Amino acid sequence: MQRHRQRQITPVLILMMIGLALATLAERKLAVVAAAVAAVDASLDAADKAVAITIDDLPAPGGGLVQNTVAGLRENTEKLLAACRKAGVPVVGFVNESKLVVKGESDADRAAREAALKLWTDNGFELGNHTFTHGSLSNGTLEAFKKDVIDGEPVTRRLMQEKGGTLRYFRHPFLHVGANLDIRRASEAFLAERGYTIAPVTVDAKDYIYASVYATAVRKGDQELAAKLAADYLRYNDDRFAFAEETATRLLGRDINHILLMHANAINADHFGALAAVIKKRGYRFITLEEALTDDAYKLPDTYAGTWGHTWLRHWEQTAGKTPAESTDPPDWVMKLYAAR
Ligand SMILES: [Zn+2]
Repeated sequence: MQRHRQRQITPVLILMMIGLALATLAERKLAVVAAAVAAVDASLDAADKAVAITIDDLPAPGGGLVQNTVAGLRENTEKLLAACRKAGVPVVGFVNESKLVVKGESDADRAAREAALKLWTDNGFELGNHTFTHGSLSNGTLEAFKKDVIDGEPVTRRLMQEKGGTLRYFRHPFLHVGANLDIRRASEAFLAERGYTIAPVTVDAKDYIYASVYATAVRKGDQELAAKLAADYLRYNDDRFAFAEETATRLLGRDINHILLMHANAINADHFGALAAVIKKRGYRFITLEEALTDDAYKLPDTYAGTWGHTWLRHWEQTAGKTPAESTDPPDWVMKLYAAR
């Protein structure tokens, strides 16, 4: 449907039609106009890109919120979900159930945090498992990882089941897939046994860096800095999408269905609408994670293992024996604020 919508009559086409009407019937001029129309049509086809949005560290990463109180979490969640709904974006959110418990809070507070998490399924969004504690598979043991996965299931599974769904997606904390290939494969067999599909990532705009500095700026009432950070965050996202498209095309000879990694933080709650507009402007439509994974790219050989968290594009590059394209960090002024936080 989106594909058809992109073929709507645009101002450029209208101008061309007027041009066509005014043109003399000389064969040469008609041929020129026809070629121009064909070129526009081809560029519209090429602009039919697709991305699935995934949001990690639910109910919320404490440091990315302006206030990690029950009220602060509720407000951030409502804002983020309203923005996702308004943009018509299907989202899978990945939960760390340990974040439902905050030191010093009561049982009632815990229940209120769970109620904030439930807003995701109430709004029709899917939830997946991101482990209980956000532990690293690459820096810990396989046994600890298995326990972390199982501990991370009860609330999330219940919320999904209440809506007639199942708990079916898993996202690795830090994108750590295992320090060596034996551990990676053993963990994958374990995840498959428990019914999980792993959710890869191909676009990582390091929102946690911007989010931490942004939340601090808002907390201090520095709206000027918050606005400056938000603007650069949007620019950096646009840049990361370009990088992912180029990397995919260099590797596969074509672009792929991308999967964006974000977090449930304040910068996204405040600016998701603008971010969705940036992505749309690049020619994207928003698809479900399930649809994204139908791209054959996700069947590519992948033997990456190590202590770094990388996107799957980099996994595939390394597996193919290619020198990985180097991703650029956010600018120095952002990195300095992040380091000084
Ligand atoms: Zn995470």
